Parts: sequence; C-alpha cells; structure tokens
Amino acid sequence: MELRIGWLYHTLMSTYGDRGNVICLQQRCQWRNIAVEIVRLDQAAPASLLATVDIIVGGGAQDRQQEIVMRDLQGEKAAQLRAKLDGGTPGVFTCGSPQLLGNYYEPGVGQRIDGLGVLDLVTKHPGLDTPRCIGNMVFELQPPELVAALKPLWPEAPVIIGFENHGGRTYLGNVAPLGKVIKGYGNNGEDGWEGAFHRHAIATYSHGPLLPKNPFLADWLIQTALQEKYQTAIELPKLDDRVALQARAAMFARLELSSLAKTA
Ligand code: GLN
Repeated sequence: MELRIGWLYHTLMSTYGDRGNVICLQQRCQWRNIAVEIVRLDQAAPASLLATVDIIVGGGAQDRQQEIVMRDLQGEKAAQLRAKLDGGTPGVFTCGSPQLLGNYYEPGVGQRIDGLGVLDLVTKHPGLDTPRCIGNMVFELQPPELVAALKPLWPEAPVIIGFENHGGRTYLGNVAPLGKVIKGYGNNGEDGWEGAFHRHAIATYSHGPLLPKNPFLADWLIQTALQEKYQTAIELPKLDDRVALQARAAMFARLELSSLAKTA
C-alpha cells in the first residue's frame, strides 16, 4: 500500500512546527510498511498535481505569507482543492490554512482576502493593537462520526492538546465545529468552539504540532486515506505510543487537567 501526502506551500505555511504533522504521518506509515510519497503543492505545482494526493496537509502562516498563498490558490487550483475535500479526501489544516479554506480573511492591516469557501466560516483580525490568542489549548472533539471512529484507535477520551497563536478570530457558519474548548481561546475566545470539520477534513487552530501530540488523529487520517483509496476496510496495526501518552499526561498535569490523562 502507498499514500501520497500533499503538503501545501511548505516554505510559506509551516509555523510553530506544523511540518511535524507531515513527518508524523510519514513515520507512522513507514512503521507499518505503508510507502509514502511527499508531494509538495507550492506555487510551481500544477493544479493537476492536487488531484493525485491521498491526504492534504496545510500549516499556519504569518499574514504576509498567507496573503501570497491565498492569491496563488485561485482558479483551477482552488477548484481541485475544493473537489478533493468535498469528495472526502482527508486532510489536516492548521491556523492560517483553515482561514484560507473559509469564505474570507480580514487581516489586521490591509484588504479583505477572499478564501476558497470550502468551509463556511469567516475570520477577522481585529487589528494589531488587540492581543493575540496565544497559549496551550485543550479541546474535546465534537463530530460524532469522528469520535466513533477514534474509539478503537485510542484509549483516552477524545481530547486534543495543542498550542495556539493567532490574531484572527474565526466565526462558523453552516459547518460543524471540530471541538469544544476546555482550555484556551479556540476560534474566537467567545463562543467556545474550536476549529471546523468537513467530510474528512480537520481544521484547527492547534499547532503543537497537532499530530505528534495527538497521534490517534494521525492514525485516523491514515486509515481514512487508505480506505478511500483502496475502497476496503482497513485496520491499522497498533504502535507503541507509550512516550506520546506520557507526554500527554505531563501536559495535562501542567494544565491542571490530570483527570483527562490515561497512561496505560
Ligand atoms: N495569520 C493568521 C492569524 O494571525 C494565522 C496565524 C497562524 O497561522 N499561526 O490569525
């Protein structure tokens, strides 16, 4: 078996270690003898390349880099990405990436930039004088189908640990939230929602990077990608995640949420 991981604008969008999501997917595949090809989807890549990938990863970016990406991701590229995500290709999109998958992003300085409209959400940066949403975050996954699919993959409650750093405030329209905030700001620091979930696409403010801290999500992405590609039920062999569990327990303890941790 083989998976092609499409990595969006890897030089422009990889803040706070988001490239760790690509490394984590690659490594967890390789430990299971699943071949991986990393496909760089940058400005030079033709739109047709997008159609060939099985998982899509997009990281965060500063406003300036994000604007460059949003201007490049138009026309045929936008149509291909929309078709992939609407068609059920799994993906993980962090911070700046969900902002560009939404309807628009209003930066702290400058003009509103149109997004792809794959996710019915908008993001507004209230201005450079307004404090950013920064810190460790914890949230509980909400989409019932995702929670059900994760149950056999992970011994804990479906709680995500991450780190956020964003100026933009995101407001959801007709799209499911990814999670409910337990600690941190989430989408906007007001309504308690974090991220968004569409078909098999995870949109989140959680850097960390997300997947090494929450490896069950990586496995869900891999399993879903294989099932979509090979059209057959896939059960992934378990990996030894004791170190990840210990790291999670340490973070839960630091955030005074020890009751959420399980280490065995
Ligand atoms: N530019 C966006 C914001 O500040 C995204 C930041 C990020 O990706 N970390 O809201």
